[in-house]
Formats: sequence, structure tokens, C-alpha cells
Amino acid sequence: MLSLNPTQAKLGWGTPQVVLSQVSKSRPGAPKFESREAQELSRYAEPMARLIEELRKLPGVGTKSAQRYAFHILRGSDEDAAALADAVRDLKASLRLCSICNNVTDVDPCAYCASPSRNQRLVCVVEEPTNIAAVERSQSYQGVFHVLHGTLSPLHGVGPDQLRTGTLLARVERGEVDEVILATSPTLEGEATADWLANALRKFPIRLTRIATGVPAGSDIEYADEVTMARALEGRREL
Ligand SMILES: [Zn+2]
Repeated sequence: MLSLNPTQAKLGWGTPQVVLSQVSKSRPGAPKFESREAQELSRYAEPMARLIEELRKLPGVGTKSAQRYAFHILRGSDEDAAALADAVRDLKASLRLCSICNNVTDVDPCAYCASPSRNQRLVCVVEEPTNIAAVERSQSYQGVFHVLHGTLSPLHGVGPDQLRTGTLLARVERGEVDEVILATSPTLEGEATADWLANALRKFPIRLTRIATGVPAGSDIEYADEVTMARALEGRREL
């Protein structure tokens, strides 16, 4: 344990930054104080600074929000703090990926893959586990899923090998699938991913479909941009 006592200052450790760098070197996992925001963090007691630093890593959480959450936890009961810590720990300890569809699950295979009431021969391919909830909200899908955990993105170095496509291709190869619905987002990366998968799956005797994109329900077509309008026309259906 190191502290900022005068004796150490006299021993020539110099400015507080030097002392802090000694602290982070001495204990792996200790927050590294680099930016001005981080220097502000160094004014807090070490356990508080550490929690703020960890909370700041969450998406959409800046230093101010992280400080608010950390002080909220500090002011709360011991039970609430322990419940939060347990929930975080259990998340990593008890969740895994479904060995069939890559969905995040606590039982393997996941509830969808194990369900006798769902059509196991109809597979909807999505980018992320959270996309499953979006499809399920429609209440009009009774098949199963395959989660890629990402999209092709050459700019970020994500090629076909980084996508989790292996178990999907194996399922199709074994003749266990009648239709694959490519439900990646209509973004550049999502379209590239759908194209790549379509090429990889085309040689198999299955129905291969892409979700329709177009004018959002409840909106005025006056406000649809040209790409959306073109897609809406492409995806039109007989009445
Ligand atoms: Zn599954």
C-alpha cells in the first residue's frame, strides 16, 4: 500500500502524478490516471475512483453519470450493493452461448432451440442477441434463430472468419433447415453480411429470404428518403 505521506514526497517521488503511476504499477487492475477527467477521479478515495472508472466503461455512461451511480450505490444499503455485485458476477458465471444458435442463455440448448412448439427448420439470422427480442415482439414468428454476434466490417477488421456462422452452415449442410431468413440490419455492414451469407448458402436446397425494408408503419411516405422508398418499391407484394 502506498500513501501520499510527506516522507515519501521527500524521498524524491516528485509530483502526485508520479506517485499515482507508482500506485497503478504496484497493483494490477488499479485505474490508470491519464486524462484530465481521470485526474479528477484521483481526488476520490481509491475504491470510489475504481468503481467510477469501471462504470465509465459502460456504453453511454460518461464521468458525470458514473459519479452519480457510484454515489447512489454508496448511499444505498449494503444489501442493494451486494445484490448488484452478485448480479454482475452471476451474469458472467452462469450465462453462455447456445451451442446451436449462439443466443445468450443459461441452459444449453437455449429455450428457442429446445422448444418443440417452434419450427426448428425455419432459421432467422440476426446480428446480436438483442435483435431476437425485436423479432419476438412482432408475435408473428414461430421459427428459431441464429446469432452472428456482429457484422462483416472490413474497416474494423471483421471478416467472415470472425462471424459465428459455423453452426448455421453445419445445420444447413445436415439438411436440418428449410428456410433461412436473413434479418441483418439494412445498413452497409448488415447488407454486406446478408450478401456474404446468401452466397455461402445458395448452393444448398433451401429457401433463402431477406427481410423487407421500406417505409416504417405509421409514417408518411412523404418523409421517406430515396433509398428507403426504392427498397419499399422493391419489396412490394401482391394484394
Ligand atoms: Zn439456441
